[in-house]
Amino acid sequence: MSIEYKIRLVAELITKSRHAIAFTGAGISAESGVPTFRGKNGLWTRIDPMKYASIDGFIANLREAWEWYKWRMELVEKAEPNPGHRALAELERLGFLKAVITQNVDRLHQRAGSRNVIELHGTLWVLRCINPSCRYSIGISEPPREVPPICPECSSPLRPSVVFFGEELPREAWRRAVELASRSDLVLVIGTSGAVYPAAYIPFIVRDNGGSIVDINPDRDAYSEIADVYIQGRAGEILPRIVEEVSRSDSQQSSI
Ligand code: NAD
Ligand code: ZN
Repeated sequence: MSIEYKIRLVAELITKSRHAIAFTGAGISAESGVPTFRGKNGLWTRIDPMKYASIDGFIANLREAWEWYKWRMELVEKAEPNPGHRALAELERLGFLKAVITQNVDRLHQRAGSRNVIELHGTLWVLRCINPSCRYSIGISEPPREVPPICPECSSPLRPSVVFFGEELPREAWRRAVELASRSDLVLVIGTSGAVYPAAYIPFIVRDNGGSIVDINPDRDAYSEIADVYIQGRAGEILPRIVEEVSRSDSQQSSI
């Protein structure tokens, strides 16, 4: 099957769907210059994830861990949404996509114009207190100047509101994601290795309810074998071509 043919097939799946969602991972932000965790040039080829991305590692290496998060915040702050993010926002605007369920913590989907975004792994742009009996949290728009930032209420260090290893997903986000997935007849899986559970269940929920899976990734991932359509390619190149095809068939439909 040629890529052109697959793109037409996916456009048809989208226009015929009743309820389509996207499920995204770090790969969709790679073309914005935000490194992924796994794969070529992945962040974890250079650092040990347990060192900073677990609560014990974070507390034990507080200053160093915060330097790492600050560096990621600066990187993400400078990054711009790419054509892949924008294509998903356009599909939502056209009425074809109900939501983006993302594992990303960078807010690039929102900056591209996506409105219904479910952040399964939290966000870098909210800080909260590490003291479990203190409920302080604050939204930020730039990285903290001094690290570690300190809680104004109890003087404990603050942490980024991202899900660390071994932690539960934000309850409301997970509930909404499962509910959306069980209502969906199509999921576009973009830029995720499918290795991080429970998030990685989302496409399987859609499939178990009889829905279709479209997988877009330059490398094979956990869904490529079972996908109805697997397109081997970069999100920023493939997604705009799909939107173009969707818009074409949509305008033909409405002119009949
Ligand atoms: P991952 O790092 O495990 O996998 C990334 C996947 O993206 C790989 O399969 C890779 O082949 C693919 N990819 C690379 N470039 C691509 C492109 N241009 N187009 C499409 N696909 C491309 O990422 P994951 O599955 O999201 O899991 C990692 C965890 O790390 C997530 O929980 C997430 O919270 C976190 N994370 C987030 C960011 C971010 O917010 N941008 C960045 C790194 C990691
Ligand atoms: Zn506090």
